[in-house]
Amino acid sequence: MREKVLKAIDEAEGRLKSLSMRIYENPELAWQEHRAVGWICEELEGEGFQVERSFCGMDTAFRARLRGRAEGPVVALLAEYDALPGLGHACGHHLIAGMAVGAALGLKEVLPELEGEVQVIGTPAEEGGGAKAKMVEEGAFDGVDVAMMMHPSGRTIPARGSLAVRSLEFVFHGRAAHAAADPEKGINALDAVVQTFNSINALRQQLPDDVRIHGIITDGGQAVNVIPERASMRLGVRTLRQEFLNELVEKVEMCARGAAMATGAKLEVRRLGPVYAAMKVNRPLARIIEGHFREFGLEIYEPPPTGGMGSTDMGNVSRVVPAAHPYISISHKDIPGHSEEFKEAGRSPLALERMLVGAKVLALTALDLLTDRELLEEVKRDFREG
Ligand SMILES: [Zn+2]
Repeated sequence: MREKVLKAIDEAEGRLKSLSMRIYENPELAWQEHRAVGWICEELEGEGFQVERSFCGMDTAFRARLRGRAEGPVVALLAEYDALPGLGHACGHHLIAGMAVGAALGLKEVLPELEGEVQVIGTPAEEGGGAKAKMVEEGAFDGVDVAMMMHPSGRTIPARGSLAVRSLEFVFHGRAAHAAADPEKGINALDAVVQTFNSINALRQQLPDDVRIHGIITDGGQAVNVIPERASMRLGVRTLRQEFLNELVEKVEMCARGAAMATGAKLEVRRLGPVYAAMKVNRPLARIIEGHFREFGLEIYEPPPTGGMGSTDMGNVSRVVPAAHPYISISHKDIPGHSEEFKEAGRSPLALERMLVGAKVLALTALDLLTDRELLEEVKRDFREG
């Protein structure tokens, strides 16, 4: 069966590369990935997958299913396809889509011999929109045994944590006044923003190493001769430890409340978008994936326990089903994500070759889980106990 899977992926090489490059060359932002979804669904429908579009009420989400000869374990392969504002495909999501489709085409060849089901779930807006968070809330993963995807990177890493993140906006409402003639009559909302940043910077001394807090001023007033009556800021608040997130957010909000009190401005706290949960690493899954990476001769990178991490809405999925979010190297040297360099690497011959390898690793891992019930049980046990 292994050989059939690998052969099918090799035979689909041209189509997979072309699919990936079409997405790359036509970057679509979060929630607008209509063309990408059209191309992916077309490909899967043509192979006999049953496709539901607008999955979970989101226009550019989908679910494609293919059943084996009888009921059995359900393995979901997750695709992403959104691009970054201004940068295009500088996070390699076009390759993520190619890997999910490639793995599905490989598994299709052996599914008639197997009990179980393969799904490809199209998850839009990973860059900030967090479609997977909504899917989790809507129960999209009820009945799924294992969820997997593969992310391009500068290095190959079978498993790695990710940071839980909550996005916040603080809006301060003060009172306008002539900045020179009547300053005492004003309440300076910008001062409240500046004070909040200063308090957060002081707070950092009492925070653990895994925490990241970073922000921008989104409104700093309209004119220098007017005391700003409105000012606002946005923050990302992150930690590796899911259970610490609420307490951390509370501490950050206290900085804003203190600034409001000090300046007399009124504070409005907006909790933006969904929380991205920290990734719950599944050790047995990581071990299987690492084995397959090694089979294809990939050099495994052992990352330090903290630092160098971002956030992903795959973290939310990993909280409800055993999940894997490995990284595959698409470059001969380490490259920073969300950069011009990463974007360039994303269309290199090596990246497209690695997309095929990634598809194979995903497919072989899924095959292991569909054919070895003991292994699947071990994965589930680690999820329950982890
Ligand atoms: Zn990404």
